[in-house]
Amino acid sequence: MDCIVQKFGGTSVATLERIRRVAELIATSYRMQPVTVVVSAMAGVTNRFVEYAHDLGSAEGDAEYDSVVSSGELVTAGLLSITLKNMGLKSRSYAGWQIPIETSCRYGSAVIQSVNPNNLVKDLKSGIIPVVCGFQGISPENRVTTLGRGGSDLTAVAISDALKADLCEIYSDVDGVYTVDPNLYPQARCIDKIHYNEMKEMAALGAKVLQEQSVDYAMKKNVRIRVASSFVEHEGTIICSDIPEKKFSGLAVTQNLSQFKIRHTLKSHLSIIKLLEQHFIRCEIIKTLDGKFSLLIDRQKVPLMKSLLSKENHILDIKQEMVRKNFSRISVIGSNFNQDDHEKIISDLNRSKIEVFYCSIRKNGLNLIVLTESLLKSIDVLHKSCGLGK
Ligand code: ADP
Ligand code: ASP
Ligand code: MG
Repeated sequence: MDCIVQKFGGTSVATLERIRRVAELIATSYRMQPVTVVVSAMAGVTNRFVEYAHDLGSAEGDAEYDSVVSSGELVTAGLLSITLKNMGLKSRSYAGWQIPIETSCRYGSAVIQSVNPNNLVKDLKSGIIPVVCGFQGISPENRVTTLGRGGSDLTAVAISDALKADLCEIYSDVDGVYTVDPNLYPQARCIDKIHYNEMKEMAALGAKVLQEQSVDYAMKKNVRIRVASSFVEHEGTIICSDIPEKKFSGLAVTQNLSQFKIRHTLKSHLSIIKLLEQHFIRCEIIKTLDGKFSLLIDRQKVPLMKSLLSKENHILDIKQEMVRKNFSRISVIGSNFNQDDHEKIISDLNRSKIEVFYCSIRKNGLNLIVLTESLLKSIDVLHKSCGLGK
């Protein structure tokens, strides 16, 4: 259908004033073609609900957790629809289940199974601007689900696909995808066009400007994405497949990693990995120079990890555990890396006296673990070493 989808993230709708500004932006677009809107919860709201649920002992995997954490989006969708109507436009809000967006039962990070576009198409044909709650779906058990943190991006992409929209616009507090998080490194460069594969890798390794699953969905369904700012006018970044992949496209950063050293048998090693997966704990397994294995996990997940390991100790046979805090991972993203590229990067870091605790080679790049205190210097060295400023 000749239409576009516009998604507004938490900072773009953080206050009533910003919701009014977003409504103006939508009104301008609507003059050119029909628009379907997707919204996130107002900034900070989902984090607060996650904390409430965790404090009461609920977490990802529990359907009640999804009922709680999905609720912020309902408020934004309603407020934005009211604002659009106050401006003389026709609009209505939708919860995920009213579309419906059908998902699996994996509460906390459900997988989209189908999106029915009929209600939206009817609205668009009648000049109504539908405002859809991002992040939400409905499971075969008739329960509300959520699509993982940052999941409103996925809602926007899935709706764009269902409507066969011309473009999926993701409005955020940055004016595009940069070579590295511009809030960490102001010299980062805005990328005008990036291939799905590179964007997916960036998102998977910490660039939260887009949710990883949303890029994957867009790539499979060939949905063209534009990332732009709701605050400043700028062309932004197009994510698509009609661009050659570059040798170096950017850096992705994950901070607040804790190292967990565990002495255990190979059998328990696999059980630990399974346990972490069941509890939605992402980890990077590293083999240190002394030949032992370590897990790197988000610092916030350390208490949960400790309690899981001690609860399961009779099965897992763990000899020892130790935690070191304050690591960061920098991932170099690109394609067709070769040995010379790796060696140059490592020698540039060595020359700048940056201690790399661990380095692993991915198919399309390199992961480097450094102390968080040397993160900014490492980004500077890597950005220059990979020629990302040009
Ligand atoms: P929204 O609330 O609009 O969904 P997010 O906070 O999820 O926005 O994502 C935007 C943030 O992503 C930016 O504020 C920025 O700090 C971060 N970010 C990380 N890596 C990048 C990158 N490579 N390019 C742009 N932004 C990035
Ligand atoms: N509000 C949800 C979150 O904070 C979804 C989103 O913003 O994309 O994760
Ligand atoms: Mg986001």
